[in-house]
Amino acid sequence: MEIRSTTVAAPEIDADAIVIGVLSDRPLSGSAAQIDAASGGLLKRLVDRQELSAKPYDVTLLHTATGIKAPLVAVVGLGPADKFDRATLFRAASAASRALAAKARSQVAFYLDDLGQAALVEQGVAGAVVGCQGQDLYREKKARFAPTTIHWASNNLAAIETGRVLGEGINLTRRLVNEPPQEVYPESFAARAADVAKQFGLSIDVWDQAKLEAERCGSLLAVAKGSARPPRLVILEHRGGRAGDAPLALVGKGVTFDSGGLSLKPSDGMLTMKCDMAGAATVLGAMQTIARLRLPVNVIGLCGLVENMPSGTAMKLGDVLHARSGRTIEVQNTDAEGRLVLADVLNVALDRKPARIVDLATLTGACVVALGTDVAGLMSNDQPWCDTVARVSRELGEPTWQLPMFADHRLTDYRELINCPIADIRNVGEGRWGGAITAAKFLEEFVGTTPWVHMDIAGPAFFDKPKSWLDGGGSGMFVRTLVELAKGS
Ligand SMILES: [Zn+2]
Repeated sequence: MEIRSTTVAAPEIDADAIVIGVLSDRPLSGSAAQIDAASGGLLKRLVDRQELSAKPYDVTLLHTATGIKAPLVAVVGLGPADKFDRATLFRAASAASRALAAKARSQVAFYLDDLGQAALVEQGVAGAVVGCQGQDLYREKKARFAPTTIHWASNNLAAIETGRVLGEGINLTRRLVNEPPQEVYPESFAARAADVAKQFGLSIDVWDQAKLEAERCGSLLAVAKGSARPPRLVILEHRGGRAGDAPLALVGKGVTFDSGGLSLKPSDGMLTMKCDMAGAATVLGAMQTIARLRLPVNVIGLCGLVENMPSGTAMKLGDVLHARSGRTIEVQNTDAEGRLVLADVLNVALDRKPARIVDLATLTGACVVALGTDVAGLMSNDQPWCDTVARVSRELGEPTWQLPMFADHRLTDYRELINCPIADIRNVGEGRWGGAITAAKFLEEFVGTTPWVHMDIAGPAFFDKPKSWLDGGGSGMFVRTLVELAKGS
């Protein structure tokens, strides 16, 4: 798919379809007004008859009409003007792109840039690139057809290119999540990461079983023990900043399939567990984007890759693991494996003396119970860094909400819930309550004093059902947030 800048007016462009936007509380303006004028007031009449929805991400297809060269106009709702921002534009462009991708079309032109700045163009183009890709990877009869060329009405070539790169990074993440577990396992994920590194100039180091043993990653290795697939740790590095500058560390949970291990999940809960590597896929999508944009910063990306399976060699309840940091962990539930993987990966990240850490993990069902499926939980040991992650993610329309991490005797001490009589800590909290937080308290044991934010993405990483602006399956959520954080927002 090619992305081109266009300066041809909306009614004049020779395309198979054009996209315009309408705000719910403003008269038609810009390209929408031009289309209206060229079609003899068609849009205005439809608005007056309430046949044209301005509700955010509603798409109305109009088969035009004399006066407009393109045979099809997709009108996407943008909602009220005071709420229109980058986040709205990303989803609106994605919604229109998705609707038009229901059929094969060659040339699609987007006229959504009337409101200006580069940051808006980037997000809009990224949305258009994301919306036309679906999850129909293995269907003979495809459901989505990406156009040959997307034309974007803006003369800001740099912003258009940035948007394309961003959209392709998100699509990489979505594709890796959507591919089945017989295709995506620790070795094959590491091979894909190596391809990305080679193509876009990232350094990469892949730790195999022997190296992980030599490095005493006893916690991560224990999770992999039940599987016929050996584990991998992928360490990617982007050196865009000055040699001595401490990097930002992005850490992803990559459980390529989570059966639960001996604490076996029921079938319903296991069905979508190919998505348990979404944290690692998000890190890889972000690292690809950061490298291609040549951001002038140092960033490391670490993906902890294992398959969690039950077998005669699987870790058992009651096993005491020796993590790389020296901490001992009693296993009380083998389905709380993500934190066991991250314990060692976070410790490896500390070797590189990062300035700040973000980890992303489809970690707990408890977080989905607390916040629903659309919002990621944030837990942190550093309030300013957490505030930054929360602000950036919400500005981009990737919603997050902070959960408490009290260690204060006047309030409550969540840390006590992972105390253990036989080892330093145990891998599940006492009782079933506050499970997202006790998981984060566990991780906190492995980050030292480095400012760290844990994002529990168990809800938003995977859409069980399609949304108006995106197909179901891997969502690619938080690639944009990570890239923006790397820019130093
Ligand atoms: Zn699990």
